[in-house]
Parts: sequence; structure tokens; C-alpha cells
Amino acid sequence: MLVTHRIRLDPNNVQATYLALAAGTARFAYNWALSEWQKQYEACKADPTLAKPSEAALRRQLNRIKREQYPWMLEVTKNAPQIAIMQLGRAFENFFAGRARYPRFRRKGRDDRFTLSNDQFRIEGRHIRIPKLGWVRMWETLRFAGKVVSASVARVADHWYASITVDTFDPPVPPADNQSAVGVDLGIKALATLSTGETFEGPKALRTLLTRLRRLSRALSRKVKGSRNRVRAKLRLARLHARIANIRRDSLHKLSASITRRFHKIGIEDLNVKGMLGNRHLARAIADMGFYELRRQLEYKAAWRGGQVVLVDRWFPSSKLCSCCSYRLESLGLDMRHWTCPGCGALNDRDVNAAINLRNVAVSSTASACGGEGAGPAREREAKPAPMKQESNCKVNFG
Ligand SMILES: [Zn+2]
Repeated sequence: MLVTHRIRLDPNNVQATYLALAAGTARFAYNWALSEWQKQYEACKADPTLAKPSEAALRRQLNRIKREQYPWMLEVTKNAPQIAIMQLGRAFENFFAGRARYPRFRRKGRDDRFTLSNDQFRIEGRHIRIPKLGWVRMWETLRFAGKVVSASVARVADHWYASITVDTFDPPVPPADNQSAVGVDLGIKALATLSTGETFEGPKALRTLLTRLRRLSRALSRKVKGSRNRVRAKLRLARLHARIANIRRDSLHKLSASITRRFHKIGIEDLNVKGMLGNRHLARAIADMGFYELRRQLEYKAAWRGGQVVLVDRWFPSSKLCSCCSYRLESLGLDMRHWTCPGCGALNDRDVNAAINLRNVAVSSTASACGGEGAGPAREREAKPAPMKQESNCKVNFG
């Protein structure tokens, strides 16, 4: 099972310069390959006898010319340009499969990262060894035991982190406390409501920080380009972005850990996050709450503990169905927080009722597993390796 541990690095000045150069090299190679790809694609449209662009060919092409044209590339690990181009190949694969947008050029400040294959770095205690650089201190030791697969080094604001992916032999955590099921209703008002009646608020700090974020980005736009003040304002903004991301990630991890620790089977709605993000009013709130990220965490943590996430079809009327008697409402306004069931007279809290319905589907999906496929609104997810960011996902192996 693949797991990733993100560890903050503690480089000295010389090392930080190297990391920036390696990230710059990766970015340059990625952008070079992307523009070559576009050129070669146009060329082969005009002349079909020419070969279509491919990441492997582009890597060979760069290897042929880098000594002459980009000698500074040789100062950093060869992985920096190589894997960046492989990642471009992966990005095109995702694009052609309809999973992602057309690859964009990487930008300085936003895409400062490079990846190392497992034969190109080593970890001992609180140090990581990077080619042509040596040992760099880490803030903590690697949490997981197993075969180290790859490492991705990235800058966030003014800090460097290494995300180290490990193929663990054992699940890193014990199984869930018991075999019971829970339904989780994701919402705007509360981040999540459980079928037990518990609600999890989103992190409150976020709102004030978002106000400050708006103010800082306005301040940045007023600074003169190329000025020292602008550099300073930019760093301040980047730090705030990192802080907001940390708070959000932290709250989602606490929530997903609590749910997967206590429950074996977890029913959640299979939200169409893409579609919801298109809705401009809801977009901000939903993006903030990180529904997609929460589902991702629930899935891999449940898999760690031998549990299971049951995705309930998003057309399943979880809010409109009475969890007591299965009476189904014709319609339910978005602002209706409670409703009284005309069938049995129960007073239903909108979110708790929905969560109970989701739990019921999750529970019944056990029964239908023997009864036949495709019946009912549930779709079970098999336990699978922890999903990672797509870029660290590519297999890397160099001789
Ligand atoms: Zn009822």
C-alpha cells in the first residue's frame, strides 16, 4: 500500500539555492517539452509521416542537446528534468482520457518542485541525501516503514518540503474500533453531519484568514512591478496561502481520522464536485470545505483500517426521504433545515436525516453484494492504495 509522508526540510543557504535551481530546472524542462510537444504536434498534422510527440522521445531529445545548450542542467540531479518530462507525458495521458485539462506551463513561485526516483536519494534518520547536494536535514523522521518509492521536493511560500512515498508492508494503523456503519452528509453550513447526530464545523479561523487574503492580494496588485515591496508582499501572500491550506488540511485529517477510526463502513454521497464548482455561489464554500479532499482521505484511511467507503449515487434523494418510514417528499427547499414527515410525523433534521439514509444504503450494500450487481444506489469501493497526487504517481526507474 502506497502512503506519502510530507516532511519539512531544513536546508542551509547553499542547499536552498540548490533546491531552487533543481526546481527551476524541472520547470524549465517541463515547459520546454510542452512547447516542443505543441510544435511537433502541429508539424505532424501538416506532415503525417512525422512521428507524433511523446515524452520518451522528448527526454531523449533533451538529453542530446542539454550539454551544449543548457549546461546548467548538469549541476542538479538528472531526475529534475527527466521526471518533469515524464510528468508532462502523464498530464497528456490524463488530458486525452478526459480526466484533466490541457497541460499548462509551469510558473515560478507556483510550481517550484522536482521529483526523485528511489535510486536517486536515501533517507537515514532525520536526513535525506540528494544527488550533487549531499545530506539535507529534515524536521522529522519518516513515519512509515517499507520500500521507499519516490520523493517530491517542493517549495511552499519560503519553506521546502519533501513528500516521500513509501510502499508499506503493513497497514500503518489498526482496524476500525468496531464493524458499525455511519452515514456522512457533507454540507455548507457544517462541514459534515454524521448519522449519529454529530456535526463537524469547518475551521472557523478560515473565514478571517480569507478576509485577510483578499486584502493582501489587493495590496499586492498596488505594488510597483519589480520593486522590493512587491517581493515582500508576494511572500506575505504566499505564507498566508500556505497557512490556510495547512489549517484546512489539518481539519479534514482530524475529521477523516475520527470517522475511519470509529466506523468500518462509511456511506457518503458521490458528489459531482466538478459540476458543483461550476455553480458560482456554492463554488467558494465548497472549494473551501474540500469535499473532494475529504472523500479522498476517507477512502484511503478506510482502506488502511480494512474499512470501506460506499459511494451513494448522487441522484439518491437522501434529503427528501424520511429515514423513519421511507416517505418521499416531492421537493425540499435548500433553506429548509427541518421538516415534518407527512407519513409518520417524525421531525427530521435535514442533514442528520440525510446522513441516516446514507448509512442505511451503506448497510444494505452488504446484503446486495451477494444478491446481485448494480442493484440499489450504492457503489462500493474496493480497498485500494492511497491515492496520491497524480504527479508523484508515475513510476520512476532509471538505470
Ligand atoms: Zn416518516
